[in-house]
Amino acid sequence: MLCLNCNRVRPALTRADYTAERARLITLHGLCVCAPPKRPDDSRR
Ligand SMILES: [Zn+2]
Repeated sequence: MLCLNCNRVRPALTRADYTAERARLITLHGLCVCAPPKRPDDSRR
């Protein structure tokens, strides 16, 4: 759940990721602002 680069909480990808625990971690560590990793199968769009 935490970013390996900045040790902050990575942005949620789905609504299921918006949990109370995640919200608490964001208040503690902050939100990751790194660029999201590219998907390997993202060449078509
Ligand atoms: Zn990060």
